[in-house]
Amino acid sequence: MTTLFRPTYNGHPVSPTLLAFDDTDSPDGMCTTYLATLLIQELRDLDLIGLPRLVRLNPNVPWKTRGNAAICLTLGRAKGSGTVCGNIRGEPVRVHGKGTPVDPHEVLERSCRVLEKVAKFECPKTNPGIVASNFRPPPSLYWGAVREVVTLRSVESALRKTGATWRKYKSGRGVIGASAAMSWRPRDRTWEVIAYRSPSKIGSKRTIDSKSVIKMDKSTKWTFNNYDYDNPHIAITPSSPCPILFGIRGDSPSELLKARTMIRGEEPDRWLLFLTNQGTEDHLVNRRIGSLRPWESARLAAKVLSEPTTIQGGHVIVRVTDGHEIDAAFYEPSRGFRDVGRALLPGDEVLLCGSVRDEPRSLNVEKIMVRKLVKDIRKVGNPVCRRCNKSMGSMGASQGYRCKRCGAKLPASKALTKEFPRAIKPGWYEPPVASRRHLHKPLRRMSRGNIDNL
Ligand SMILES: [Zn+2]
Repeated sequence: MTTLFRPTYNGHPVSPTLLAFDDTDSPDGMCTTYLATLLIQELRDLDLIGLPRLVRLNPNVPWKTRGNAAICLTLGRAKGSGTVCGNIRGEPVRVHGKGTPVDPHEVLERSCRVLEKVAKFECPKTNPGIVASNFRPPPSLYWGAVREVVTLRSVESALRKTGATWRKYKSGRGVIGASAAMSWRPRDRTWEVIAYRSPSKIGSKRTIDSKSVIKMDKSTKWTFNNYDYDNPHIAITPSSPCPILFGIRGDSPSELLKARTMIRGEEPDRWLLFLTNQGTEDHLVNRRIGSLRPWESARLAAKVLSEPTTIQGGHVIVRVTDGHEIDAAFYEPSRGFRDVGRALLPGDEVLLCGSVRDEPRSLNVEKIMVRKLVKDIRKVGNPVCRRCNKSMGSMGASQGYRCKRCGAKLPASKALTKEFPRAIKPGWYEPPVASRRHLHKPLRRMSRGNIDNL
């Protein structure tokens, strides 16, 4: 039981030195993942222990810069030559399985100098934070930041207990994401290989051969969100003017390294493989409608209450209930996904995943499982009198029918009806690739047994 003798600090086991940062980008440039490559360059006298981690946080917080991603690097001293997990300007980046910590204060000092040169301080939404520690903070910091809205004060108080050292810029809100990335202990996980552009090309149009992306998508088994076939579009390239050339996501790190070499077009300046929480659905909490909270993302079982309506802007709204009621909204940017909302009928049973909007309170549906469909039986005519063989007259809404010739009566339930086929089948439905969020677990991942049994 050697673990008993591992040094601890207030119960936290010592790890190699963790360096995490967040909120350095802006909507019109930089990218926190790019800073990871700059820091690896700067700290190349240290060894990388385990893959760099790219951690996505609560996508509903109103003050996020872009994708709400934070990064954690694990650094120290290792033995052996490690394995290649990236390349920066022709120099391979190597990763090691284990190593010993170094001085976190020195790592923080050196990293701050790099961050201060590149962070987009002029953007009002950019509030960088950087944390270094030889102890992994409690997992609650991750779960709080991916599912809820947490305060900087509560995070700093937790960091103090783990002996971490950190620096805040402007409001310093980035410390929340940085410490969340640092405290993430993967349950489910995926990988992303990200290739970056030469500094001279950043801001110009990206040249990526879409045929090579389709070929890569079709010839790999474990990648996802590569290409949007519904609305022909390359999904591995961002639309912002950031340093990323492309990023390929998947469940097999070795396959991603091969997939990277299949993309034709602009030559990357550098690339790096990340371990991530993307596609894990870690942000979803199981809730009943009555206990939904604003800014969170929930999974809830409900019954359709009303016929779907299409409101201005093309959004589809369906009223659902589980005792309490809420409007489930299928927004226009989800395009074909709205057809699922439109096809629902009162009485259908569904499982909805989505984000909670505060005012007016509604659920923005990001994924749906149709569990049970009611029969679509509609009235097609009045009943026929058995004696006279003539169509009977209605006595008013749900008042039944009466034969005009002989006076015979029939109840309303005897109307002529017909069962129509339903436009949807039970099962899962998701928006097209381009409208998915980073934490969205694609259906392509859900069918893989090894994922949920980690
Ligand atoms: Zn009759």
